[in-house]
Amino acid sequence: MITPNLHYGDLKDSYLFYHISQKVQAYLEAHPEAVLYRMGIGDVSLPLCPAVIDALHQGVADQGSKSTFHGYMPECGAPFLRQAISQHYGRRGVTISPEEVFVSSGASDELGDLLDLFDRSSSALVMEPAYPAYVDANIMAGRKIIHLAAGEENGFLPLPDEQTEGDLIYLCSPNNPTGAVFSREQLQKWVDFANSRGSIILFDAAYEAFIQDKALPHSIFELKGAENCAIEICSLSKTAGFTGTRLGYTIIPKGLTRQGMNLHEMWVRNRTTKTNGVSYIIQKGAAAVFTAEGQRQVRENIRVYQDNARMLMDAFDQLGLWYCGGKNAPYLWVKCPDGMGSWEFFDYLLEKIQVVGTPGEGFGACGEGYFRFSTFGSPQDTREAARRLVKLLGGK
Ligand code: PLP
Repeated sequence: MITPNLHYGDLKDSYLFYHISQKVQAYLEAHPEAVLYRMGIGDVSLPLCPAVIDALHQGVADQGSKSTFHGYMPECGAPFLRQAISQHYGRRGVTISPEEVFVSSGASDELGDLLDLFDRSSSALVMEPAYPAYVDANIMAGRKIIHLAAGEENGFLPLPDEQTEGDLIYLCSPNNPTGAVFSREQLQKWVDFANSRGSIILFDAAYEAFIQDKALPHSIFELKGAENCAIEICSLSKTAGFTGTRLGYTIIPKGLTRQGMNLHEMWVRNRTTKTNGVSYIIQKGAAAVFTAEGQRQVRENIRVYQDNARMLMDAFDQLGLWYCGGKNAPYLWVKCPDGMGSWEFFDYLLEKIQVVGTPGEGFGACGEGYFRFSTFGSPQDTREAARRLVKLLGGK
């Protein structure tokens, strides 16, 4: 009899969002008239910008005419999009050749698929609290996971020390769920660490577009030596509202090797075996994001989320609550007041002011006592949620 992948039996129930929706449903059944302020969502709420919509229409039109029709696309991405992304890096002073850009259908897909490049005996270092997919994808592969606890004492940005281990190192900056962002110096420490022990960093830059401080790195390839130890995973999901349209890209330097094997060449081989590329129409729409007009328009949408962050930051500043994130990330990670547990705080906010957030404990044990607020909701809802938070917690 065939043996299934028994490692699936090691997965813990991913109960976080299920549990939240059950609690919300129960509340709405008991209070059918209630209006909720949803500050927990990880999905964007603004539509695609006009430059992308025009390019998508053009892509559809191209597919309807014999002279412009595209069949299978190159597995690693359309040359026009790889070129546009390479130039986008170039404008930031980072040299990435078009061949080092791999177009994907999103960061989640890549974060799982890239594990094909590494032996199952290699360990994975995951900073916690963490985006749950890092842990689960490695459990499915039967990898040893090393949990590196982050906390208030290091601003939720832990650094390697003599005891740190890990063959694959997951770094997410700006971070989901904490919104914390590594400085250049901090990230350099991770790059040096990875180079010193031959590890590979999987750098998840899904939220890089939210960075406002000029001194903070958007790409790990801004750091010295990163081309020898890092793979960068990016996404247009939050940058340009592509959560439902689906497009991401991954940067693998041509010279990235381990034990005599070239990881860039291995990934070309992997893609040409396991995919038939991303839809021409979607790549056409994605290329519009990297034009001057596209960049201007996506920044307008991001500014709406940044304004939402400002409203929440003002509320937490007023309340004197400890938090990180917000300024350079679409998430704020707040310490629950009065020593409340994160689910206790969830219930309290739902019951008293109908604000729904995400309990930190759902992102790993060291998230207990913290709470994630997202800035992806509407400005109206965010303003009202901030007002209600100040009224409720300021009176305590
Ligand atoms: N990485 C992080 C840290 C995320 O928070 C998310 C989505 O929320 C993703 C990756 C997935 O992005 P995509 O929509 O491109 O699959």
